[in-house]
Amino acid sequence: KTGSISRPKTAAVRTITSTVGEALVSARGLQKSFGDRQVMKNVDFDMLVGDITVIIGKSGSGKSTLLRALAGLTEPDDGRIMFDGEVVFEDQKRTPMWQEVDSYIGMIFQSYTLWPHMDVAKNLVLAPMKKLGLGKDEAMERAKKSLAEVGMSQHLHSRPAQLSGGERQRAAIARALMMSPKLLLCDEITSALDPPVAAEVLGVLRRLKEEEGIAVALVTHDMAFASKAADRLVFFHEGEIAVNTTPDEAFNRSDNPELKKFVDAVR
Ligand code: ADP
Ligand code: MG
Repeated sequence: KTGSISRPKTAAVRTITSTVGEALVSARGLQKSFGDRQVMKNVDFDMLVGDITVIIGKSGSGKSTLLRALAGLTEPDDGRIMFDGEVVFEDQKRTPMWQEVDSYIGMIFQSYTLWPHMDVAKNLVLAPMKKLGLGKDEAMERAKKSLAEVGMSQHLHSRPAQLSGGERQRAAIARALMMSPKLLLCDEITSALDPPVAAEVLGVLRRLKEEEGIAVALVTHDMAFASKAADRLVFFHEGEIAVNTTPDEAFNRSDNPELKKFVDAVR
């Protein structure tokens, strides 16, 4: 299924061929240390098109480091990353293919996601004008479409300070959508929100993955969402993926003692 927001022909990027159920991202043997602290120890991780992968685990277990490595914000010390069947990281560096796929990867953070001195429209059109070479009118048209997708049409010219936390995160999702991403990496984007507002933001993500056929990775402490909406559940423990299965299996049948401890602690 193709997304409703199509990519402009001007962008010199690869056409993504992975379809629903196929691996969009495939990481093998990722390692990362900060000083003598091993933050990722041999991490293998796949993400399928059309899946929401929820990542849980204690603070400091390496969740953000994995997302940042996939987004190109952190360089692993070792391992390999494939995107759409092509090697994008190997031998401790990004390959030339990285340049052709990185605009398909969007990352959203817990806070500071929008430029405070620009209105929502300006926040949205900036990257596609610069990176995809869109003209201003075309970019504005896309901004309107993206905002409509997250139910924020009325806020085209609002400033971030005028928005609630949930609205800000929905605007951040809209901004990511401007690039027609295939991969959305969401790092605790609802952690600062009240539960009903968080649920609304997560609902937007769920609808998007269904309608746009993108792969979503979501770091969250929201166990209700994890068990209800995740297709895969990944539990990080001390830099390793300790559990990687369906949410039902993870929450109801896993005998991993660390996972049990973690779930009891956040519930
Ligand atoms: P999580 O997202 O699961 O809380 P992180 O991936 O952010 O964990 O961090 C894992 C560990 O790596 C933490 O101990 C953190 O302090 C450390 N770390 C992360 N980024 C850096 C950095 N840039 N420099 C030094 N240490 C870092
Ligand atoms: Mg983190």
